[in-house]
Amino acid sequence: MTPRHFIRLGTHAEKEYFSKLTGFDSVVLNANLIESTSAAMAFFALTMKKANHDYVIDPYTHAYAVEPSQIHSDAKPTDAKRPRIKATFKALAERYGIPLGAELGVRSLQPADLPEAVLRTIVERCLSYQNDRLGAELAANIQFLGDDGLAEGLVPAKLLAPYFVDEFDGTWTGLNRRALLLAAELAGHRVAGVIAFDSRSASDEALANLAREYSLPPVNDYFIWATDLDEHHTSPTTLQQYARFVRTLAQAGKSVTAFYGGFFALLLSYLGLRGVSHGVAYGDKRGMEPVAGGGLPPPMYYVRAVRDVIRIGDLPILATGLDAAQYRSRICACLICDELLRRGGPDYLFAALAETEYRPTSRGELREVPARSVYKLVKYHFLFNRQQEFIEVTESSFAELSQRMRDEAAWVASRLGQRSVAHIGRWITAVT
Ligand SMILES: [Zn+2]
Repeated sequence: MTPRHFIRLGTHAEKEYFSKLTGFDSVVLNANLIESTSAAMAFFALTMKKANHDYVIDPYTHAYAVEPSQIHSDAKPTDAKRPRIKATFKALAERYGIPLGAELGVRSLQPADLPEAVLRTIVERCLSYQNDRLGAELAANIQFLGDDGLAEGLVPAKLLAPYFVDEFDGTWTGLNRRALLLAAELAGHRVAGVIAFDSRSASDEALANLAREYSLPPVNDYFIWATDLDEHHTSPTTLQQYARFVRTLAQAGKSVTAFYGGFFALLLSYLGLRGVSHGVAYGDKRGMEPVAGGGLPPPMYYVRAVRDVIRIGDLPILATGLDAAQYRSRICACLICDELLRRGGPDYLFAALAETEYRPTSRGELREVPARSVYKLVKYHFLFNRQQEFIEVTESSFAELSQRMRDEAAWVASRLGQRSVAHIGRWITAVT
């Protein structure tokens, strides 16, 4: 069975990729993004629905329980004594009924803030938000659409219970479970749980306990988010723990989707994983507290033989001596690469990916940076490759695929060194 393919919308600018791509199944929308531009998001969800892509809304409740600076705005504070909170998170807190009041953004939410009655209200409002917000926005704008009746049908495929990241220190474990049970009481089989845990502080025992607990009824659908798990650099032990966690839930009959996953997550489909979600620009992992600042990261080129991105500067080294036909069979023959190769072979492709343009810095100086067109090319190229990988895990046995991965990795290692493909062996071991 093909794993279900979810793509998460990270920014409004990414919408164009969704409208041009085919082949993926579902969309993940962040509640904070919905709150920032709800009408645009309602139209987007409707467009997706008409193209047969359903959606789920990530309620993003965990953001209130992490270090409060994560929801601070970059804008200058109006009052030097208090940080300014991002408007979207402030609005969302009001909609959910997060009981922090004036302390929002000053301290993080604690389970003690959420006695049963308060938690029940939050769960109820969080589910209603997901169910109703976009439809209501669409109904309010229906005169522009001309085809009414659509707004009622604009509901997510699943309603996600509120969740907080479990750091295995006893803080959130019980409350997460309670929130899930309340959600199931309210919305039955429409509910899915998000199991978020800090992969760095997980022990075999703690994860086994968590898996056992979530194997129990009544909820059958889960999204798993192992925060700070980096598929390419995480230790073999952590990968194995994650794999075992997925297998335990799958064996208990649960439908499990990786909330942020790359090719390692796709390999877990051999252990029963049923879906993988990722972003337009890779997004195969997500730390609990994203790194701030630093401008646009350089564009990177996804190489299927590596199952990771490489620097664009390394691509000519990897492709040394290959003609266009060999480039297609060894590296990539996606729509983007095929067209560039047809126009002028590998050299033309390297040149297109090395294009630069001048852009003003915050101090008004002009700086030479990778061209916008390059970001676009590498994103489409990545998305086409990921699409192929969903097909690949569906059509190959694990034995065939792991042999192919080893062969391709050996070829890459002969050109870029062993370190660039060190994760391949670790992945195969963790899934075997
Ligand atoms: Zn390509």
